[in-house]
Amino acid sequence: MSYPRIEVDLDAFRHNVRTLREAMGGPVLAVVKANAYGHGAVEVARAALEAGADMLGVVDLAEALALREAGIEAPVLAWMLGADTTWQEAFDAEIELGVSSLVQLDALAHDALAWRAHRALDGGPAPVALVHLKVDTGLGRGGAVEADWGAYFARAAELERDGLIRVRGLLSHLSGASPDDDRAQVAVFERAHAAALATGLDPAVRHLSATAGGLRIPEARFDLVRLGVAMYGLSPFGGGDPAGVELRPALRLLAPVVRVASDDGTRGWAVEVGAAHGLPPVGEGDLELADADGGRWRVVRVETVRTIVEPIVPPPSIEVLADRVGAAGDEGRADDAVVRDLVVIGDPGRGEPGADAWAAAASTINYEIVARLHADLPRSYAARRADTAARHAQAPAPRTLAGGRGTAPRTAPARSLEVDVTAFERALDGSPVDVSADAYGLGVARILPALHAAGAVPVVRTSADVDRVERETGIRPQLDPSAPDATRDAYGFDDASGRSPVVSLRSELVLVKHVEAGQGVSYGYTWVAAAPTVLGLVPVGYADGLVRRVGGRAWMLVDGVRRPIVGRVAMDQVVVDLGDSEPAPGAPVVIFGDDPGAPSLRDWAEWSGVRPEALTASLGPRIRRGDRSVRP
Ligand SMILES: *Cc1c(COP(=O)(O)O)cnc(C)c1O
Repeated sequence: MSYPRIEVDLDAFRHNVRTLREAMGGPVLAVVKANAYGHGAVEVARAALEAGADMLGVVDLAEALALREAGIEAPVLAWMLGADTTWQEAFDAEIELGVSSLVQLDALAHDALAWRAHRALDGGPAPVALVHLKVDTGLGRGGAVEADWGAYFARAAELERDGLIRVRGLLSHLSGASPDDDRAQVAVFERAHAAALATGLDPAVRHLSATAGGLRIPEARFDLVRLGVAMYGLSPFGGGDPAGVELRPALRLLAPVVRVASDDGTRGWAVEVGAAHGLPPVGEGDLELADADGGRWRVVRVETVRTIVEPIVPPPSIEVLADRVGAAGDEGRADDAVVRDLVVIGDPGRGEPGADAWAAAASTINYEIVARLHADLPRSYAARRADTAARHAQAPAPRTLAGGRGTAPRTAPARSLEVDVTAFERALDGSPVDVSADAYGLGVARILPALHAAGAVPVVRTSADVDRVERETGIRPQLDPSAPDATRDAYGFDDASGRSPVVSLRSELVLVKHVEAGQGVSYGYTWVAAAPTVLGLVPVGYADGLVRRVGGRAWMLVDGVRRPIVGRVAMDQVVVDLGDSEPAPGAPVVIFGDDPGAPSLRDWAEWSGVRPEALTASLGPRIRRGDRSVRP
């Protein structure tokens, strides 16, 4: 059987890392956050180290610890710290921490002290927290603003003298709004370094640039460049503006072409991958896909679990393909002898649509195309090198990646899709229920007992999901490619109120800071503070499922109050304008839910152009799935 799947070419990836490291002329940190931009964190991290990367970087501690669990011992930096993180885990695993505020420094010191007392009892070595101090040089996201540097650096110096922390680095991040803006940030960064030295600190590793800054602004490279998108073979400047070094795309998304019945009864073709797997909406005819027989297909539309295509240049095998599928029934797939994979995302150099073509068709950036590819898609790693010649499939990233609650150590900021199974169960009436795409992100295993209790038969819309549900639950669901809307009623996606009583997406504020009028926020400075205000950072971005195009329209409920997202949605975070309020870090954020005043899932569907069930299905692996049946 052929399934939608991702192939990662580690040779291409290593080539890119080596080429970029040479171009930078100095040490590089390989950014493998967000499941390595959809490529698979562990395999990619190993390949980056083989190709000479000096260090690895991720967003949160849970991502860092997953690398350690895989046996990776290289230095790892994590820079997005939740409000009540359990730091011991980081000290134990020697994860370096990008700290952004006095509050975070104090939390860290508190735990280091407790841990030290503990160690004194059992005679072990005293822990030292390895810290990179993050400063805001203009991006308006993470990091301490200049007005706060005095107290921030002084406290860090004091903690260093006490032996609780060691300040290894100083970091910041460029806006890329213009070359002048970036150079202005270089100057501010130099001031920050001087201020740190003046308080007795001596951060040995100064790093400011990601790929774009490293390539175009040599004086912004300092001691380390954090490489991201270009390692994956994509230009940080977009498809029309090459990186200036020779890059090879590392990822291919393939999916089998199947015969489908349209609503009007005519038969057509589709590939079994869609918005639930992370593909964005695109216009009819905007993209052409290729198959291995020289056939060319145009994309008609991206649906939730499949993408409708039409042959432009039919492959010679198309008659056979149509006949065989016809024999199998009205809809369905051919047997393996005739099945054809289409390259959905691939190498433009081979006439395939690349991430840039998808980005252009969906009015977004190549980063979002790869980073939103669902962690559940199987990934395999092809490499021509002798020592890694075997092709090995990697299990999908575990859903348990994000930290738990209660007494379990907290290693990631709070980000969770809360499922009210009781409300789901109440909506069941014994008719069949569509559990495609892991029950649209709710988790098939979680809702199965409710289906049993109600005598509801599970159905799915793709062959890949038939096998997946059987593998995970032991139950073989019925295949119904055109399962009607009624089979999805119980989720409440289209509830008359616009609010699903079943699912809500929640997070927390990880950073709160005052900024002056004129402060630009996030990449490209699409929003600038008109007056002094308070900004908050919410650790959920497009890799987690918040479609990038909602920037400028969307809002969230922060500590019970409606707050706009300002500036662009980034891969791992958004900034909210808190106005004249100042909630503490850790304050609750409702992204969607049925809480009074909260945005609904339908609001997000309108802002993004993506159907509600595709939004919940495409949430990333950093989003924990929680049970909310028992309400406080
Ligand atoms: C994502 C990220 C990077 C890498 O950015 P690219 O544009 O992909 O090179 C570097 N630094 C930080 C802090 C990041 O969050």
